Amino acid sequence: MSSAISRNPILIAEGSQVLPATVRHLILDRDGVLNREPEDGSYVRTPEEFEWLPGALEALALLRRAGVRLTVATNQAGVGRGIVSPADLAAVHTHMQAKATAAGGALDAVLVCTHTPEAQCLCRKPAPGLVQTAIARSGIAAAETLLVGDDGRDLEAARRAGVAAALVRTGKGRRTEAQLSGADLVAYDDLLQLARVLAGDEPRAGR
Ligand SMILES: [Mg+2]
Ligand SMILES: [Zn+2]
Repeated sequence: MSSAISRNPILIAEGSQVLPATVRHLILDRDGVLNREPEDGSYVRTPEEFEWLPGALEALALLRRAGVRLTVATNQAGVGRGIVSPADLAAVHTHMQAKATAAGGALDAVLVCTHTPEAQCLCRKPAPGLVQTAIARSGIAAAETLLVGDDGRDLEAARRAGVAAALVRTGKGRRTEAQLSGADLVAYDDLLQLARVLAGDEPRAGR
């Protein structure tokens, strides 16, 4: 608790979308937030194909130093489609975790939906299952949790799980922002900008 980040609420856009006053748990989408978004319809299959976005590792370290729990929650339908084997995915995530840890930004949990959309599971975003699991495992209230993603599916999963969400303009983020123009969005250029706001290094950003 003592390591929680506390600030005054930041009203970024007109309407109801604000960051929680205290963020103790960040649920991160993977592709397009941490690493370069693969081409449409393709998947990261090997550690070599996992390309960190600029500033992402620094952001994880900054958040961890600030005492924020870090959960990755990612759709990886390539597994369900037989394009990525479970062992391949495990190798990618072992690599991701090793690099994050080495940078000082170790991840507390990595949650994956491996199902195809056709499976109609409860965990594939925009369904809220992954987000709900992340919250349950964290022991941290939804009100002190923030999801960050680059896709409307991420934001919708957060909404259905009852947690606040922020958009980053990496990956599909700019496209998503354009598609959702008019909606109340909390948006940042990238994860590092969001991390600096949450850590109190930047008083205000977004939109
Ligand atoms: Mg994404
Ligand atoms: Zn699933």
